[in-house]
Amino acid sequence: MTDVPAIQIDDAIEAVPGVGPRTAAILQRLAIGTVGDLLDHVPIRYEQEHAEASIAEVDASIPEEDGTTANVAVRGEIAAIKIPPGRRPRIEATLEDASGRIQLVWFNAPWLRNKLRPGMSLVAEGRAKRYRGYLQLANPQWRTVDEAEDLPARDARLRPVYAASEDLPSRRIEEYIDRILEPATTGMEDPLPERFRHARALRPLGEAYRAIHRPDSRRDADDGRRRLAYDELFLLQLGVMMKRRHLRSTLTAAALETTPDINARIRDRFPFELTPDQIRVCAEIGNDLARSIPTNRLLQGDVGAGKTAVAVHAMLLAAAHGHQAALMAPTSILAEQHHASIGRMLEGASLEIGLLTGSTPPAEKRALLERIADGSQRLLVGTHALLSERTEFADLALVIIDEQHRFGVEQRSRLRRPNRDGRVPHVLVMTATPIPRTLSLTVFGDLDVSAIRELPPGRSPTVTRVVVPGKAPDVYGFLADRVAAGEQGFVVVPAVEESDAGLADVENHRAMLEAGPLAGLRLAGVHGRMKPDEREAVMNRFRAGEIDVLVATVVIEVGVDVPNATVMVIEHAERFGLAQLHQLRGRVGRGSARGVCALIGEPTTEEGRRRLEAIASTDDGFEIAELDLGIRGPGELFGARQSGLPPFRVADLLADLDLLRIAREDASSWIEDDPRLLGPDAMEIRRRLLERYGATLGLGDVG
Ligand code: ADP
Ligand code: MG
Repeated sequence: MTDVPAIQIDDAIEAVPGVGPRTAAILQRLAIGTVGDLLDHVPIRYEQEHAEASIAEVDASIPEEDGTTANVAVRGEIAAIKIPPGRRPRIEATLEDASGRIQLVWFNAPWLRNKLRPGMSLVAEGRAKRYRGYLQLANPQWRTVDEAEDLPARDARLRPVYAASEDLPSRRIEEYIDRILEPATTGMEDPLPERFRHARALRPLGEAYRAIHRPDSRRDADDGRRRLAYDELFLLQLGVMMKRRHLRSTLTAAALETTPDINARIRDRFPFELTPDQIRVCAEIGNDLARSIPTNRLLQGDVGAGKTAVAVHAMLLAAAHGHQAALMAPTSILAEQHHASIGRMLEGASLEIGLLTGSTPPAEKRALLERIADGSQRLLVGTHALLSERTEFADLALVIIDEQHRFGVEQRSRLRRPNRDGRVPHVLVMTATPIPRTLSLTVFGDLDVSAIRELPPGRSPTVTRVVVPGKAPDVYGFLADRVAAGEQGFVVVPAVEESDAGLADVENHRAMLEAGPLAGLRLAGVHGRMKPDEREAVMNRFRAGEIDVLVATVVIEVGVDVPNATVMVIEHAERFGLAQLHQLRGRVGRGSARGVCALIGEPTTEEGRRRLEAIASTDDGFEIAELDLGIRGPGELFGARQSGLPPFRVADLLADLDLLRIAREDASSWIEDDPRLLGPDAMEIRRRLLERYGATLGLGDVG
């Protein structure tokens, strides 16, 4: 088609007839800034509307005897309203059109009294019957017909329902879409080449928009949605693959070969034998690192699976080749802990591991940065501080990110900064929150994946119980018994400070426990607002067994490793997410004694109840991740914030897995043929790709 649409998708939303600055501002809150955004604001569902009939037609269509019709819709004016006395409160309205009268009756709906008045025009829908000689619709659906909308009687149709707001109802959105749908989609350019569209039986783009907004049938709506969802998935896959291809073809990293001798020397440093799973994963990573193509691998393993050992193995490999390696943790507590445990492994070795966090004292930091820059500091752990502009590595061959879900795509790409010799580091990311397969194909679609599924020997799974608040004393009694037996425990509360919400906070809860159920035990509090050195001191005393029970916020969520801790009590458990509860629970049962986790809570919502049931019923982190995805949806779990990517508008990662596979295959084949999307048929898709994902995926340097 050659017609240029009269209204373009890139036009500002004010180009829509009837949209002024005030409405534009409201639309903006729904993330609608352009005509294209409005088109992409697809219905959340549809309502079946029935064809309107005249009242006489309805009357004639009532089956013999006391039959009832199928759903019918009538349009008319309210002639009279009656509220008859009686035991069952009801409201009767007489609706009148040119052909006759029908009685509308609502039971138990007293609020209608203030809504209906004589003279109003309504469309009422329901099943008609005859009652005591009157034609009647009982409890009909209804809506008013305002003058602006006083269209001719309509046919049966699916009416779209849009995500709306108080000041912008679905029907207004429907109207705006009506005004642009034809002009914007007629002759609309379709960025998807015919060959893909044809192979996957996808509608042309303009047609898909018309089908999703104004479907002739459910089937029609589904077809439209399928095309638009495909586009979103396809675009992200193209971006991810283009980036991956680019990294692989243009960047080089140091080749770090695992020789038998190096392997033996590294393994000697561990205080335990690696499990078969750990050995397998070390070999997978070793294969990657041996090549000069930069590694981009995700290591998944449930809490306590022993990922750190695998990380250390890789770091020592880099050091053995004379290069630098860094391990980046999401919190200073974790960085400090890794520093301590790796430090112990290196006792007596010629290498030392450095620690760089936001709280490293300035003088120490300066000295450390110098050693990093001249290459003499080969091993390093730290927090985000490692990413700061001032950290200049001489020869960083490997970066390992612990607890990947805290790092976005953007931050990962910053790690790709070349060293002075022009080479980039290999990247290994570790996560204990398993990324559901669905998501690992999309957001993390550029990563290879390794998984540790088997726990180190001698562990038994933690027992989890949901306990109502009234039974909390029993829980603390149990904890006191475990402490008497020489073990330790955690009590997690949701708040750092006293809050209005009446939630337990660290200091008050500690004081309460000390004065009551845990009297005589050694308690201490930790939370994220403490000074790092104070916090570290408390953690060290806990590790040394000088503290029995740690009262903490979720700062202890990830990675804290104290094998003697066996009991985890979580107050207000209903306030935590599934993955978070699983992480917290993973802090106990890390030694040989069985861990016990008590979730104290009384969920008030259905969702909260399902969450606690789920966590108590399974110990499998992968299963929990899928459940979490099911309950909260991917937007929550790996939403824009975590992944750094704009969320999908149409695609639904749970429902569209098959479509995702197709989109992935197609994107892969296109990138294979045209790695930088420079072909003539790629111009429009390339433009859209850069606009949507250019910044977050770092595509700017790709072409
Ligand atoms: P995570 O995968 O959660 O990071 P860690 O690496 O912290 O797990 O390991 C959990 C605990 O298991 C640590 O105390 C660690 O020393 C221990 N561990 C790891 N690997 C083994 C092994 N092969 N044999 C015995 N204990 C191990
Ligand atoms: Mg860990």
